Amino acid sequence: MTSIVDQFIELVTIDSPSGKEEHIAEYLKKWLINHDFSVKQDGLGSIIACPNHIKPTQILCAHMDTVEPGCGIKPVITKTHIQSDGTTILGADNKAALAAILCAVEKHIATYHHNPAVELLFTVKEETGGGVNNFPFDWILSKNGLIFDYAAPIGKIILDAPFITNFSVTYTGKSAHASKPEEGINALIPAIKFLQQLPVGKMDSGDTTINIGLVESGSGINVVPEQTTICGEVRSQNQEIYQKYIEKIKIMAKTVTHNTHVHCSVNLDGYCPGYSISPTDSFLKKTVRRLKRFNITPTFEASTSVSDANILNANGFKMINMSDGVENPHTLNEKISLSNLDKLTSMIYIFLAEI
Ligand SMILES: [Zn+2]
Repeated sequence: MTSIVDQFIELVTIDSPSGKEEHIAEYLKKWLINHDFSVKQDGLGSIIACPNHIKPTQILCAHMDTVEPGCGIKPVITKTHIQSDGTTILGADNKAALAAILCAVEKHIATYHHNPAVELLFTVKEETGGGVNNFPFDWILSKNGLIFDYAAPIGKIILDAPFITNFSVTYTGKSAHASKPEEGINALIPAIKFLQQLPVGKMDSGDTTINIGLVESGSGINVVPEQTTICGEVRSQNQEIYQKYIEKIKIMAKTVTHNTHVHCSVNLDGYCPGYSISPTDSFLKKTVRRLKRFNITPTFEASTSVSDANILNANGFKMINMSDGVENPHTLNEKISLSNLDKLTSMIYIFLAEI
């Protein structure tokens, strides 16, 4: 049997930044076929694996991609942790979960001499969005499952995750030489008015944030800017408030062009649906009971970030996202403790035995 540390090191040393998951997908497909799973892969590269001769009743899901800088990762093993060498991320997000799933399945087969009744869904482009969204969901036979994609000490369960939409507002005027402003239409002026009026940061309700991340304008100091684009996002746990701000942004963006000849277009993209799991949900209660048998009393949290659970829960599945023990994800200081890697593997092993 492969040790969790060896398995983890093997996975993080396969480069898989978002959109370039071919190598890790090939590795996993081989592994799955060798362990008696049938494998299907969708057009974007996400994989679903079903045990041969066993009807699955639960899903385990992990994403194969990492953020950048994520190529040429050289993991460093210390007495207590595995970390990157400081020039890249480590990729423990989400390869700690991937490695733990593989080791737990292998241990299950060694103990029970057959596969667990679990489907394994390994996705692409979770970090950038647009990966699992177009997955052929009718390939998935079970309805409930677990994801371990929340960087916090093991034992946390996400009950609420936000709705997010990216927006871009483009103002278009007409360029002219700076010395002949009367021949141009300045697209930056209404954009500044829009930014002055737009509420940014945490909104009164506390569960909604608006951010402006990018502003692009003009082509030179001595040119009247023809185009200005402002990009931002709205995220909220509350669907009603979220909708209200989206509408407000659309109206505000256009209002500032009144009495100008500037054209304004507002585009919404990168939508990710939010979700809320009831504390009385039966699958949640079952998961809590299993954790308690593993001597973990879970705590419930609302996340401000999203995961594949958002997409799957919006498509008729009940996916519970749990913490993975990863520290400082998406940074050059990313690490995971050896004890958390072990704990994650044992926890998944217990889940598999009790399906
Ligand atoms: Zn992740």
